[in-house]
Amino acid sequence: NNYSLHKIREEYLNFFKEKNHLVRESFSLVPKNDKSLLLINAGMAPLKPYFIGTLEPPNKRMSTCQKCVRTGDIENVGKTDRHGTFFEMLGNFSFGDYFKTEAIDWAWEFMTEVLKISKDKLWVSVYLDDDDAYKIWNEKIGVSKDRIVRLGKEDNFWEMEVGPCGPCSEIYIDRGEKYSCGDEDCKPGCECDRYVEVWNLVFSQYDKDEKGNYNPLPNPNIDTGMGLERITAVLNDANNIFEIEPIITIINEVEKTANVKYGEDKKTDVSIRVITDHIRAMTFLVCDGVIPSNEGRGYVLRRVIRRASRHGKLLGIKGNFLNRLVDSVIDNWKEFYNELDDMKGQIKKIIKIEEEKFEETIDQGIEILKSYINEMKSNNETTLKGEKAFKLYDTYGFPLDLTKEILEDEDLKVDEEQFNKEMESQRNRARSARSSDGIEAWDANKSLDLDVGIKTEFEGYDKLSSQSKV
Ligand code: ATP
Ligand code: MG
Ligand code: MG
Ligand code: MG
Repeated sequence: NNYSLHKIREEYLNFFKEKNHLVRESFSLVPKNDKSLLLINAGMAPLKPYFIGTLEPPNKRMSTCQKCVRTGDIENVGKTDRHGTFFEMLGNFSFGDYFKTEAIDWAWEFMTEVLKISKDKLWVSVYLDDDDAYKIWNEKIGVSKDRIVRLGKEDNFWEMEVGPCGPCSEIYIDRGEKYSCGDEDCKPGCECDRYVEVWNLVFSQYDKDEKGNYNPLPNPNIDTGMGLERITAVLNDANNIFEIEPIITIINEVEKTANVKYGEDKKTDVSIRVITDHIRAMTFLVCDGVIPSNEGRGYVLRRVIRRASRHGKLLGIKGNFLNRLVDSVIDNWKEFYNELDDMKGQIKKIIKIEEEKFEETIDQGIEILKSYINEMKSNNETTLKGEKAFKLYDTYGFPLDLTKEILEDEDLKVDEEQFNKEMESQRNRARSARSSDGIEAWDANKSLDLDVGIKTEFEGYDKLSSQSKV
């Protein structure tokens, strides 16, 4: 069987459409009216108002394939088989309509009857004391007890800072012995890549407030999330979420650009996968109006671009290349995300400018970091001084995590506390410089950097200049 990402997206949305779900297009990666979240990281995130009841949903059942970005997973990218910073999440949602039984029933039906995954590869997990879910899996669906694991809060209680949350139940696929970490008790929940979590069914029955209280919701909801790349990879028996159609075409483009072969050297492969992931993240981020900056979403984008640029260097790529790779993302996803084609020129331009900016300093920065590393080694030190990391940031444009990552390759670390202090005092200096200049307007517009929607940015700019004229 040769399933592409696009085929499975279609199968999924059709399946839930037939179960009376309203199918909606993905929402933007930039959250609307939600200060608690920098970027959309799950299918449910843009639907929060429907879950909490502040907005009436257009239908009590909905289904989407949502663009997601999780920067928290950035260090896993290319290293685990299952993490990207950008991915698409399939989801079916019930706003006070159906609950656990149907959610579980349909998930099982989709996995075993539509995708025809053999039952003996499937495992499930439930939250520690969720006996209801346990019973449904065991008695109604017929999953044997030794295939149901009870997991704690970390895995099986879904929550964000605030908003709808609750216990969950996950579906795992056993990819077989060869992916095992070899631990005697390797089973779902283990950090290795043998049992891959593909689908998370969240029984969201609480609304968590700022104080950390779990307030029961009047009507319990269902929120599910399945990683489109993961399920596609597992179905195709692919090594990881990148070696699937059409993501593999990006891998091939990177190979061509760098004139290297994928699959021959571990380090090279990691760099290729990092670029493959990051190019998707940056393309979709810019498309949704994010532009590189030193704060908020803009900084997420900047980190992703600079990190990819550095991995390009590791592969021996000379000069700009990211803006050219953007084409393969747009060509392969535009049919499903029309906005990509409309924004093509903008996306390439913005990425190119950011790449060029970093290009001017990256080589020098790397040389300097190398000299720091040599110095540390000859002095038997393991921690890079915060001021030095800050200099790399401030003068050479090295995001902290890039410096960290390069140091980690040498088993070294950085004094982050000191780095943050340097950062803070720079901010203070800038602030007082601004107020003494009488242009506090910058501060009033501080959210600008966070709200990097291109339109808002331009509006803000106008506002700013009109204010400073006053
Ligand atoms: P993991 O434990 O593997 O990190 P998770 O528990 O953090 O996954 P959820 O928050 O439950 O993931 O998200 C729902 C689904 O989205 C997951 O079951 C998985 O299929 C997919 N998913 C989550 N994170 C990623 C990622 N970084 N890259 C690709 N798919 C992901
Ligand atoms: Mg995770
Ligand atoms: Mg998990
Ligand atoms: Mg999960």
